[in-house]
Amino acid sequence: LSTDRVAVLDHGYLQLVESWGSDERIIEAARMSTDGAFRGWGDPRWTCQCGYILSAALFMATSAVDRPSCPKDPAHVMSYEERPGDEKLLAYLYNHRHMSPFEMAGMIIEVQAPIFVVREWQRHRTQSYNELSARYAPLPDVNYVPSVERIMQSGGANKQASGTKPCSMSEAAAFRVALDHLYRRANNDYTTALESGIPKELARLVLPVGRYSRMRASANLRNWLQFLTLRTDPAAQWEIRQYALGVSNLIRQLFPRTHDLFLAERRA
Ligand SMILES: Cc1cc2nc3c(=O)[nH]c(=O)nc-3n(C[C@H](O)[C@H](O)[C@H](O)COP(=O)(O)OP(=O)(O)OC[C@H]3O[C@@H](n4cnc5c(N)ncnc54)[C@H](O)[C@@H]3O)c2cc1C
Ligand SMILES: [Zn+2]
Repeated sequence: LSTDRVAVLDHGYLQLVESWGSDERIIEAARMSTDGAFRGWGDPRWTCQCGYILSAALFMATSAVDRPSCPKDPAHVMSYEERPGDEKLLAYLYNHRHMSPFEMAGMIIEVQAPIFVVREWQRHRTQSYNELSARYAPLPDVNYVPSVERIMQSGGANKQASGTKPCSMSEAAAFRVALDHLYRRANNDYTTALESGIPKELARLVLPVGRYSRMRASANLRNWLQFLTLRTDPAAQWEIRQYALGVSNLIRQLFPRTHDLFLAERRA
């Protein structure tokens, strides 16, 4: 799993700081109540007389022949087996909203996003935040300029923005120029104010909501899924959706089985 920065929008990023727990730990937490333990996933698989195991999914993805051969000895006979496993319990917990085991896992990410995205994001009260302080350090001169294609999107699936017709390409280009002027002027006023000794906490008043800020956000898995439900939805603003899709991708890598259950529920 990568802890590299994943680029979002023109100057933003998402980065995994740390995570805890796993799909297995969720099962363990649930079984703890009856003094049990994680028993293993029962995914279909091929097993060899020598103990070599190959998952059926991996075999299907890599081979066209109808039976895998053992890498230790091609003369070995491999057989197919399907066992009931803990994915059934995981699905039961998720689909019956027994959600507390999903609070036993979680992650912290670092996010660089425009201030207007951060404002939307911080409405999610179950996450914990720590944001760069513009009272103590000047905000870097990094600003969001949407692409022409983005500006030309009409409200689309977003009911709040429906009824608006898309602008022309030249209107979109003109808006980008206007934004660029605004950002330059704002940064000029900001640095002039800082240089003349205006307190940072007041100098920032000239900065627009397209300026990038940076924060860390921490939540348990249950609450990350709640965030994804609201913010990967087509009704959410396109910009925060780009971040939510990045979060979804991290969750998929860290908690693949829970993420599958989440997607299945969203499709249903
Ligand atoms: C498409 C979209 C459009 C939006 N438009 C607007 C808008 O125009 N104006 C605006 O102000 N906001 C808007 N929001 C923000 C929205 O109203 C929520 O504040 C935000 O989505 C966070 O959701 P939440 O409260 O469920 O999340 P969290 O704060 O993470 O809470 C999670 C859950 O905990 C429970 N909970 C938390 N705190 C309380 C509490 N105090 N009382 C009772 N239950 C609680 C609730 O069950 C809640 O669902 C919009 C959000 C979306 C996705
Ligand atoms: Zn073998």
